[in-house]
Amino acid sequence: MKFLIQNGGCIIGRSIEIEGIWVHTNIIPCHNRCGYCQIGKKKVEDIPFSRVAAIVDRFTEWKEERGLSDFKVWHWVGYTHDFDLSSLNQVKRLYARHGWELDLILLGGISDRREDELRSWLIERKAIGFTSVVASFMGYGSFHDRWSGRKGDFERLMSVQNAAAGLDMDLQQRIFLTESSIPYLDGLLEELDKLPGKVKVREIYPLFYSGRAVKLEKERITEDKLNGLPEHIKRLYRSDWKNWRSEKRWVETVMDEGDMPEKVSLKLILNESNISRYESMGCEEILAELEIRTRNAYSKIPSRRELCQRFGDVSNERVYMFRHDIERKWFNTHLQASSTNFERNLTHLD
Ligand code: SF4
Repeated sequence: MKFLIQNGGCIIGRSIEIEGIWVHTNIIPCHNRCGYCQIGKKKVEDIPFSRVAAIVDRFTEWKEERGLSDFKVWHWVGYTHDFDLSSLNQVKRLYARHGWELDLILLGGISDRREDELRSWLIERKAIGFTSVVASFMGYGSFHDRWSGRKGDFERLMSVQNAAAGLDMDLQQRIFLTESSIPYLDGLLEELDKLPGKVKVREIYPLFYSGRAVKLEKERITEDKLNGLPEHIKRLYRSDWKNWRSEKRWVETVMDEGDMPEKVSLKLILNESNISRYESMGCEEILAELEIRTRNAYSKIPSRRELCQRFGDVSNERVYMFRHDIERKWFNTHLQASSTNFERNLTHLD
């Protein structure tokens, strides 16, 4: 079963093809305040994970009963993996139900723990199948801490990785590449190389264009710099780096593409005040409501080519990783020129 919603009659607005539902809420406190945080504002909802999981399970059962194997059911509950053990088990179960193995722990924004507590925390997680820890860096020392908005964060991430390596867990390291972090790259790599254990992934990439990072355009790396860094740094660029482009090249790409219906997942955004209502509704009732609201939201968004034509800046050499990043930039400019009241958070350009 496929939903295909056409936007009839509007001068602007997009056709969308609905391919799933995304149950979305932020229930995990994060102790950082990263200057580039994709979430931006971080209101934490006081909702037990089990209630979110019950809704995700209901949608999974609904699609299974109808044989809708292509209909995707996703969930997102926060970027930090500082869950209690029982919730973490539930998260793992949901991932497995959707066909993915969750075996890594995201360390951004986790609570402070004494060394013995940290070790027990990791041992418990290893026992239920978590095999690696993921740490993200913007340089090292106080430079990193300033960006993460938390004193001692660099040392904290290093101690957790050290403890994880001591328990034979793998390390994954993500490094942000910005104008001001370039001078810190070699020093950071030296620090990371001192850690024991196996580095399963070490990758470097620029900032996303979302959340707080939309205000960091001066930090965004240019294509010349990206291509001109030494080979030992370029070797660590994430494997999709050949697809990263300057705005100038994105304009060429988007203008060459035809306009297709946007493939979107409906977003069920749960908060403390609406969750009971959604718990009392059937899946089809929820989908029908979200479909109407999502169609209304997309009816306010010009086509990607139109945004590109009107707002694409061919003099901009700064690099954006994804099509939705550069599109979000153009859409922000569009909204500055003609502010519109609509549910942007239901779209892929939120
Ligand atoms: S750790 Fe992640 S969720 Fe927390 S502020 Fe930083 S980027 Fe945002």
